[in-house]
Amino acid sequence: MLDSYRHQGLRKKLVDELRMKGIEDEQVLEVIGRIPRHCFIDSTFDAYAYQDKSFYIGEGQTISQPFTVAVQTVLLEVASGDKILEVGTGSGYQALTLDWLGADVFSVERQKKLYLKTKQLLTKFKSTVKIFYGDGYLGLPVYAPFDKIIVTCGAPIIPSALIEQLKIGGIMIVPLGEKKQIMTKVIKISDKDIKVTEHGDFNFVPMLSEKVR
Ligand code: SAH
Repeated sequence: MLDSYRHQGLRKKLVDELRMKGIEDEQVLEVIGRIPRHCFIDSTFDAYAYQDKSFYIGEGQTISQPFTVAVQTVLLEVASGDKILEVGTGSGYQALTLDWLGADVFSVERQKKLYLKTKQLLTKFKSTVKIFYGDGYLGLPVYAPFDKIIVTCGAPIIPSALIEQLKIGGIMIVPLGEKKQIMTKVIKISDKDIKVTEHGDFNFVPMLSEKVR
């Protein structure tokens, strides 16, 4: 896929903008500076790819705003080799960000059309992201436990199956709420205890249960 000097220049500007908005993690900024976001949205809208905005990707869904991707990724404290579950594959942009940070990514998407489209798209990148068609409320019990879990849709509650599938000491980042969401960090302290902290208001598409054919 074509990654022109113009794209690269716009990407550099986007990284500067994220830095100005308070993102300090150089590793996360470096990866955002490398991922060709224009490949994740319809080519007709190429000009919008490096604006710090969410964007329509079909099936009523959006690719998250780069600032949101950065905040979630920083909060997740990604270390190389981490086994990470993502709920809400969408365009695949967040999944590739985690992959390029060295994580082993398992991502689940409930809409079959998006699942198929993104699975195809990610083959074009050197990535080891594994994509599944399923309901994120159930997680991926066969591949559990995970070091980290990231939810990229607005969840009304912290899904209990996801807490179960998190390792002790593991981190889950989940935007909690129905209309607006509060970015929530959950640390699994023990089999019975979690520690919860809040990290600002965001807007996500809703987390809905069951698969869509
Ligand atoms: N991470 C994505 C953001 C996608 S928007 C990106 O980088 O582009 C959120 C996605 O969550 C949508 O694709 C939506 O279909 C999906 N989703 C909503 N509820 C879900 C569920 N229960 N399980 C899995 N995916 C879900």
